[in-house]
Amino acid sequence: MFYRPGMTRRNLLASGAAFAAASKAANTGDKPALLGGKPVRTESFPEWPVIGDDDERELMEALRSRRWNRRGGRHVDQFERAWAARVGSRHALATNGGTSALFSALNALEVGPGDEVIVPPYTFIATINVVLLQHALPVFVDTDRETFQIDAKKIEAAITRRTRCIMPVHLGGASADMDAILAVARKHGIPVVEDACQSHLAEWKGKKVGTLGDIGCFSFQASKNLNCGEGGVLTTDDEELYGRSVRFHNNGGALGGAPIGQGGRTHGCNLRMTEFQGALLSTQMERVEKQMQRREENAAYLSRMLDEIPGVTPARMYDGCTRNAYHLYMFRYDAQAFEGLPRKKFIEATSAEGIPLSGGYRPLNKDPFLENTLGSRAFRTIFSEKDAAQWRERNSCPENDRLCEEALWIGQSRLLGPRSDMDQIAEAVRRVQKNAADIARS
Ligand SMILES: *Cc1c(COP(=O)(O)O)cnc(C)c1O
Repeated sequence: MFYRPGMTRRNLLASGAAFAAASKAANTGDKPALLGGKPVRTESFPEWPVIGDDDERELMEALRSRRWNRRGGRHVDQFERAWAARVGSRHALATNGGTSALFSALNALEVGPGDEVIVPPYTFIATINVVLLQHALPVFVDTDRETFQIDAKKIEAAITRRTRCIMPVHLGGASADMDAILAVARKHGIPVVEDACQSHLAEWKGKKVGTLGDIGCFSFQASKNLNCGEGGVLTTDDEELYGRSVRFHNNGGALGGAPIGQGGRTHGCNLRMTEFQGALLSTQMERVEKQMQRREENAAYLSRMLDEIPGVTPARMYDGCTRNAYHLYMFRYDAQAFEGLPRKKFIEATSAEGIPLSGGYRPLNKDPFLENTLGSRAFRTIFSEKDAAQWRERNSCPENDRLCEEALWIGQSRLLGPRSDMDQIAEAVRRVQKNAADIARS
């Protein structure tokens, strides 16, 4: 029952039908917030990052040690050993970012001018940037719309004699189809770099992603499930690739006991992690498993509810994906089931209900930055007009175009609260659906 101040139960009942009819929406609590109703949720979602006394202690220890650089410090070394053990990799190399880890990986593999690297179009721009930094061409393979991952069945058709690397992304915390990807890579003798920047501790058939291909890369940038502001790590079982990565990230020089690798010293960069980052990661890492379990529980519960609502479809996981890190809770929106309410308006309406959603990525393969880069002096030197024209001809990802119109995301930290938060997310979706026609007209 809905009481207004100053109204007794008796005169509320007496006012009866007229009152009920006049404020039916308000009465059932169904009036959408966008049209002046009370929002489903008014409190904020859990704060990110989660911090504790242990972080403070470890950071202060690094500060007072006066060893802020990894040479002579202990935190980065310790973190590398801990990460390698955690994911089950022989080597781990910490870097100052996920992009830097990917950059080091492509350098270790000697991806270079004139090469092609197979990438998904549904990813963060850094995946593509590291390819372009090598003056290589990103060759886009369309997305499997159901899973949001690269469509592994379409990779083989994209391979040419120039293909130097396949770079799948484990998008949103789930795993790309690694069996299919590794099979085609082995058949053609092409190395695989896994961009696992969103998928800390996610698994493919019980093995941690980032340890299945030749090199795996993770990010610890502020939004990621494990965070030290900026940071990254590269994992590999290959001694030679490890040695090359170490030297590339360290201005060509060796570091500690890392192998020098064949071919002698070459050029490099400074992509080293600081002791402060290492210190934070060591304590933040203690929280990862518990947080991951909470996200998994909440995501499974939310999916059961969303499955009941027509027009919203949670991203499917491949059978081989035995653990999902849920960096993003991803689902697809079908406006048909919402009286044609455009996705943009749906996001506005749920946001007004206190449930913020993102529309996700735009089609990266069509982004103007690619043409601008192809038109740059270096690229014009390396690739002919004909090369560029052929690249354009192959650059079509219709499934991904469609996904970019339909996608909706919920960020990982929103899955860290109580289960009732999930009820509210589903409630907001249902309320907007029930009032879709009114909202569309507003
Ligand atoms: C975050 C991210 C990166 C880059 O990591 P940074 O640490 O921000 O440099 C690369 N790829 C993907 C898919 C990412 O989500």
